[in-house]
Amino acid sequence: MSEELTQDQLTLLSARLTHEQDTLSAGLKGADDRSGTVELDGSMGRLSRMDALQQQEMALAQARQAKQRLKTVQGALRRIETDDYGWCPDCGEAIGFKRLNARPEAPFCLICTQQRGG
Ligand SMILES: [Zn+2]
Repeated sequence: MSEELTQDQLTLLSARLTHEQDTLSAGLKGADDRSGTVELDGSMGRLSRMDALQQQEMALAQARQAKQRLKTVQGALRRIETDDYGWCPDCGEAIGFKRLNARPEAPFCLICTQQRGG
């Protein structure tokens, strides 16, 4: 199943990656702004303090995931610039539009991803 991307497909995926990058960047900026707003003052009950801490913890975990995803998306955009995009660096096969359409940031083909355990 070796299918090279057409220019149209590349343009489409590139636009989606750029959009994803913008969305993630904006989301992370918002998360940074929010992380300072959880105030654990004495007027809070013990339970709501725990709630606030838990929410802060969740927000941090989400920010970590978003950062990781942003890195992957930016890596894909770099590969577009260097004409490496769409090719699996492990086996050298074309990743294929079908898979990239589902996950534009996918760095590896499906087979290599499965061999890597995810
Ligand atoms: Zn591969």
